Amino acid sequence: MTESRDPPPIYVTQPSLPPLEEFIPYLEQIWESKRLTNSGPFHEQLEQALCDYLDVPYIALFANGTLALVTALQAMRITGEVITTPYSFVATAHSLLWNGIRPVFSDIDPLTLNLDPDRIEAAITPQTTAIMPVHCYGHSCDVDRIERIAGNYGLKVIYDAAHAFGVQCQGGSVLNHGDLSVLSFHATKVFNTFEGGAIVCHDAKTKQRIDHLKNFGFVDEVTVAAPGINGKMSEINAAFGLLQLKGIDEILQKRKAIDTRYREVLTGVKGIHCLSAADEKPNYAYFPILVQPDYPLSRDALYQELQDSGIHARRYFYPLISDFPMYRGIPSAAPANLPVARAAAEQVICLPIYPSLTSKQVDLIIGIIVGQC
Ligand SMILES: *Cc1c(COP(=O)(O)O)cnc(C)c1O
Repeated sequence: MTESRDPPPIYVTQPSLPPLEEFIPYLEQIWESKRLTNSGPFHEQLEQALCDYLDVPYIALFANGTLALVTALQAMRITGEVITTPYSFVATAHSLLWNGIRPVFSDIDPLTLNLDPDRIEAAITPQTTAIMPVHCYGHSCDVDRIERIAGNYGLKVIYDAAHAFGVQCQGGSVLNHGDLSVLSFHATKVFNTFEGGAIVCHDAKTKQRIDHLKNFGFVDEVTVAAPGINGKMSEINAAFGLLQLKGIDEILQKRKAIDTRYREVLTGVKGIHCLSAADEKPNYAYFPILVQPDYPLSRDALYQELQDSGIHARRYFYPLISDFPMYRGIPSAAPANLPVARAAAEQVICLPIYPSLTSKQVDLIIGIIVGQC
């Protein structure tokens, strides 16, 4: 067999894009209006369309999810210490450092891989002002218990909901929990605007403060109320988001079919544990498996087998955030404090899942995993 006959590589995800010609009319409107940014018409339309689709009262759009996280902390005037998970993308904890806040890592639940509510209270000190949980893989946190703890200690809750677009837990959109929820519309996420993000909030006053903070702190032409940042989403990204939103239900449908196929076969494989959401309406953002000691290969050996077959699965989230150099000196980053997170980081592989992944490709991936037994 020659090189050129190898099938193309399969990545963990591939962005969904609508037909290019459908985007041209949006661009023509932008060229016509010459409104490129600063809350233009597409920006306003996308905020409203997302409120409707996600069933949330207020949304502020951002240039990306990381700026939204940084701004969310400022909007709530968070200082001191914030309790968060080590098992996430590094931007979660980076947003704390960017605000001069000390992250306090707390261990995760072995079933959900989200912050373990049983362990949060032990991490609270007089300096604690907030909890920043992550709905990891789009599987919702134990929002009720987290809210009860926050209520008891007077803490704010800011969810990193970067994975949780469209997710409904028991009782509706998961984004309606906590004080704020932050979304990412990065190319690799379920809903993308190339780059983008948003903060979901529950009242008009908070929405207005966030809007000031994402525009340098400007309140009006001559008044600057805070050292805000430039976090605004451009009209191109907002217009693209409006077009993407038309296709989102089909995207979620296709993801669900792939999730179902993986699960049908892999749940029966000894040593492979498929994580699952307990949600009313999951979004199938990722397909994480844990490679356990009774599987014939180690996690890294299976990862390599997949690589060698052109399948670029990813070890999300390995290494733990708490192992990166800017965090590992923090007392709560000590390995003994985070045994569950460490075990998950050493066992996890996220398998490819995206709408254009064919059932033949899914079966190829399954075949490699089953074939080692
Ligand atoms: C993607 C992601 C972010 C960052 O979002 P960007 O839009 O890429 O800045 C933050 N937290 C988590 C958990 C993410 O997966």
